[in-house]
Amino acid sequence: MTTVGGTRRFKDAQDYLEHFIVQEQIDKYLPGGKHFIDDALINRELEKARSAPPDPARVREIVARSTATRETLPAADVATLLQVTDPDLLEEMRAAADAIKHAVYDNRIVVFAPLYMSNPCVNGCTYCGFRSGNSRQQRRILTMDELREEIDVVAGRIGHKRIIAVYGEHPDTSTDYIAETIRTAYAHTCKAPKTGAPAGIRRVNVNAAPLPVEDLRVLHDVGIGTFQVFQETYHRPTYEKLHPAWSVKGNYDWRTTCFHRCMEAGVDDVGLGALFGLYDWQYEVMALVLHAHDLERWFGIGPHTISFPRLEPASGTRVPEESPYLIDDDTFKRILVVTRLAVPYTGMIVTCRERPESRNACLSAGMTQLDASSNIAIKGYSDSCKVSDQAEDRQQFMLADNRSLEEVVRYMAGRGIITSFCTAGYRCGRTGGCIMDALKTGREGKFCKINAVLTFREWLDDFASPETVAACEPLIRKELDGIKEWLPKFYPTVMKQYEATCNGSRDLFF
Ligand code: SAM
Ligand code: SF4
Repeated sequence: MTTVGGTRRFKDAQDYLEHFIVQEQIDKYLPGGKHFIDDALINRELEKARSAPPDPARVREIVARSTATRETLPAADVATLLQVTDPDLLEEMRAAADAIKHAVYDNRIVVFAPLYMSNPCVNGCTYCGFRSGNSRQQRRILTMDELREEIDVVAGRIGHKRIIAVYGEHPDTSTDYIAETIRTAYAHTCKAPKTGAPAGIRRVNVNAAPLPVEDLRVLHDVGIGTFQVFQETYHRPTYEKLHPAWSVKGNYDWRTTCFHRCMEAGVDDVGLGALFGLYDWQYEVMALVLHAHDLERWFGIGPHTISFPRLEPASGTRVPEESPYLIDDDTFKRILVVTRLAVPYTGMIVTCRERPESRNACLSAGMTQLDASSNIAIKGYSDSCKVSDQAEDRQQFMLADNRSLEEVVRYMAGRGIITSFCTAGYRCGRTGGCIMDALKTGREGKFCKINAVLTFREWLDDFASPETVAACEPLIRKELDGIKEWLPKFYPTVMKQYEATCNGSRDLFF
């Protein structure tokens, strides 16, 4: 190992495995050796809540408090909500979750595309197709030219403005490579097919392995959006069973303290997640909430997003089919509803791992972001004829929703939901604590309504078929009328930008 310009370089995978974790950067956030994922507390609260059917009056009181304050709920309240099975009470909770989502995020859903950069990996996660030693996986690291070809499809043909860049964990694709891919993604522009207008990626979120503070500063400086790290399972014994001790990922404390290091490095949009199906779903929801509490306690900022990946089949492993903790679609929806009530201000992401019916149901259960036209094979977008092609030997797991972005946009428009391509918040410095307050008061939701309309207009004009444009026009009209009613004095300014967008200006935002 050597240190260059403040970050460390490793000579090979073994060197990385032995030296990557920085123990002081774990200990700092576990004072007295006590972990904020308090296993005893989770079990105690769940046991208490499970000992008798939940009292509907208490459930309603918790729901009303979440609706009124939009603050993260205490663990005991979350444990109570998790026990509700009565269909009528569940429906009340769902309606409240949907109302909170509307108050905070309005009627918009933000869209993005996953873009897999690399699959070499030093770890051995038993459920993942990328794990080291899986000979069925073809290993590949995108070159910057290949990345530009991928963006030509993702931004130039499909019309996405934001990606989640995904990486295996390997010294060859660590911080320097991640930073280079982010820079390349921002710098590359292409031409929209219908108008020839400039198209490109405006926000790069990252899903990668936990990093030390110095490396996170490097990513901050190149303009990373959200840094996502899924905990997989918060239940330590299960975590240790699924992630071998010889691997970097086998260190539970390094992973759980990652977002504390992010905040310290100035990366204040962080994305939590648990991989549902590995352990008891109620335990995972409780732990996600405790994780949010600890970030709020240390930094006054909770998670920008929470993701809800669910186990899918993957090459060379039977864990996704044989785990005793697999959940059904109704339970999945309950997880979303309870999380929306428990962490009311957070963005909630449901990916193409879910089948279309399940994702459609999540649209009214608190979800705020989804991907579409996704291809998660390495170089999948530009190598394949159809974006829906899947290649088990080149991807981490299989996808269940292969709908195109255009199909999803039209489906959502039919339900009165506007698709947002907005990336303004991040570029205006509305991240971390700044955005938390705006979200809790509902200010951000209204503000973003305008940016959603402008970016939706761009996408319709640049990428959509005439049928889709016609299907979505009434929704745009309705949104503009809503803005007029809500902000009569500001409306002429909005219309000036809207008309400029109709006339070919791009990337106008408030
Ligand atoms: N390699 C890095 C890591 O593990 O931290 C980056 C993330 S990995 C490429 C993306 C995520 O995919 C994992 O965190 C995990 O939650 C999810 N994943 C892995 N195997 C999966 C499977 N079989 N089904 C669904 N999701 C899976
Ligand atoms: Fe590697 Fe991430 Fe897959 Fe684990 S989940 S094997 S760390 S790519």
